[in-house]
Amino acid sequence: MNEFVISSGHAKIVRGASGYLDEVNEARKVVPKVAEYLKELDCKVHTFNDDTSKTQRDNINKIVKYHNSKSRDLDVSVHFNAGTKETGGTEVLYYGDGNKALATKVSKAIADALGIKDRGAKKRTDLGFLKGTSKPAILIEVCFVDTKTNADAYKKNFDECCKAIAETLSGKKLNEEVKPVEKKSVLHKVQVGAFSDEKNAAELAGELKKKGYSVNIVKVNG
Ligand SMILES: [Zn+2]
Repeated sequence: MNEFVISSGHAKIVRGASGYLDEVNEARKVVPKVAEYLKELDCKVHTFNDDTSKTQRDNINKIVKYHNSKSRDLDVSVHFNAGTKETGGTEVLYYGDGNKALATKVSKAIADALGIKDRGAKKRTDLGFLKGTSKPAILIEVCFVDTKTNADAYKKNFDECCKAIAETLSGKKLNEEVKPVEKKSVLHKVQVGAFSDEKNAAELAGELKKKGYSVNIVKVNG
């Protein structure tokens, strides 16, 4: 897939979940970072945050309308979960069965990047975003805002999380900038003389050979 619309869940006024993390604030950080990585991967990305809706219905309608107004291969909504008192984890929600495989992959990629539980793909037929968007769609629940271990893991691995999303959506790998460039082996040659007359060069080479050095005569155009 090459072209995406990614929006943050809920709205500036119609807020989402909060706990150790605030869902709307964090979704608004994930969306641009994922978009940045997708652009690095030569993908086209449109992003959207709803700053104006005052009701939940307006909010869903506004988000869906934006998505459906763009050309794209996939619609992505970024949320954070709440409500578990257990270990939390990552979930990716989908509606059409054709999106289950991608949802599974994205969920695993995020869970691995954060080092938290992979709760996997979950089919949901009741969500306005998944029902209203006309292209394949997934709704990402990055982690639980009210599970402290999840919040800590997310804060620590934010970049890795966004990279994992971008790589999984695009099916491409980002360049590892941190990887040190492989060192090429370098030979240090010792030069002891340069002669225009080949005979003189051969003489010096002979003397050095007698002393036990390994010698090469290299011809250079002067
Ligand atoms: Zn949400």
